[in-house]
Amino acid sequence: MRFETDAIHAGHRPDKAYGAISVPIYQSSTFAFEDIGKTSGFEYSRMGNPTRRVLEETIAKLEGGKAGFACASGLAAESVIIHLLNAGDHVIAVEDIYGGTFRLFHDVMTRFGLEFTFIKMDTKEAIESAIKPNTRMIWLETPSNPLLHIVDLEMAAKAAKKHGLISVMDNTFSSPYFLRPLEFGIDIVMHSTTKYLNGHSDVVGGAIVTNTDALTERVAFLHNALGAIAGPFDSWLVLRGIETLPIRMKQHEINATAVARFLKTHPAVSRVFYPGLEDHPGHELAAKQMKGFGGMVSFEMRGGLEAVNNFLRKVKVFTMAESLGGMTSLAGHPATQSHASMSREQREKIGINESLVRLSVGLENVDDLLEDLAQALA
Ligand SMILES: *Cc1c(COP(=O)(O)O)cnc(C)c1O
Repeated sequence: MRFETDAIHAGHRPDKAYGAISVPIYQSSTFAFEDIGKTSGFEYSRMGNPTRRVLEETIAKLEGGKAGFACASGLAAESVIIHLLNAGDHVIAVEDIYGGTFRLFHDVMTRFGLEFTFIKMDTKEAIESAIKPNTRMIWLETPSNPLLHIVDLEMAAKAAKKHGLISVMDNTFSSPYFLRPLEFGIDIVMHSTTKYLNGHSDVVGGAIVTNTDALTERVAFLHNALGAIAGPFDSWLVLRGIETLPIRMKQHEINATAVARFLKTHPAVSRVFYPGLEDHPGHELAAKQMKGFGGMVSFEMRGGLEAVNNFLRKVKVFTMAESLGGMTSLAGHPATQSHASMSREQREKIGINESLVRLSVGLENVDDLLEDLAQALA
C-alpha cells in the first residue's frame, strides 16, 4: 500500500475482539494467562500492549523498517538507543544537535564512560577524521534544529558501514512522509512523536525504528529492561495523529514556503534558513533526499535581542512557545529555550545567536500567518 493508506491501515486493525475501527485503548497493566506459559500474546504492558503495538507496527511500516518501539518521549527513545553502547565507547554526533540530546550525551552519558565528539558532518573526510579506535555510533540529525543544516545521509551511512558503526538518525523534523532515512542505509531512526507524528501538541512521546534483526532484538530488550515505554492512551493519540500526517505535512510545507519567501523580502530580517529556498546551502541535497522541505523556518532579525523580544511580544497568531510540529504556529527563541542547555560558547560555535527566531509554521490560513508576521516585524 501507499503511504497515505498505511498511515490509516497499518498494524493489527481492525481490532480482533469486536472489530472496532478506532484502535481500542487497552488501559491495562497486565493480561490474563490462558494456562501456564500460555498468553493471549500480551502479559504485562511494559513488555507489550495491544494499543502500543499498533502504533509500533504503523511507525515501522511508514519508515520502511523491521520493527518499531514506542517510547515515553523522544529522549526516552534516545536513552534506549544510547544504551546499546558500553562504557568506553565513543559516539560522533552532528554539532547542531537538538539541545536535549546534547544534554543527555554531554551531561549524563559521559558520567557512564561514553565519549562524544560533535562535528559538522559535511564530508566523508570530516566523519572519518573524527573516528577513533573506540568509535561505535554516529548520530545524525537532518534538517538540523534550529539552523536546518542538511547532511548527506547516503554518504554518512556509507562511512558508518565502512567502519562498522551503528548509524542513528533523528527524523523528528521531517517525519517519514518527507524523509525515510533507512532507505539510505541508516540503521536506526528515532522520533520525538511529540512533534509532527502526533501533530496536535497534546502528547509527549518518542519512537525507534530498527532495520536489522540483530538491532531489533537488542532494542526490544532495552526498551523493556529500561522501561522507557509509551502508555496506551498516549499511543492512541499518536496513532490518531498519524492518520492525518500526509495531509498535515503537505500543508505545513505550503505555509512554511510562503513564510520563508515573505521573510526573505522583509527589511527587519537579515537571514532566513529554510531548505526549500534555492539559496539555502543544503537546498540541492535536501531536494535530492527529501520529498518535501518541512514546516520549520528560522530567521535572524536586525536589532538584536530587543528586536526579537518585541517581535515575540507582538505576534498574535504565532504563540511564543517551545516545541514544534503541531497544527498551531509557534515562535521560539532557541538561545533561551530549546538550546538553553548548551553553553553560550557551544551555541555560538554552531551559529545560534540571540537574534535567531525559530518558527514552527502551523496549519492556520497562510494569509493570517503572513499578516501576523508583518505586523509583528513592523
Ligand atoms: C523535541 C525533540 C527531541 C526530544 O523529544 P521529547 O519528546 O521532547 O523528549 C529530540 N529531537 C528533536 C529533533 C526534537 O525536536
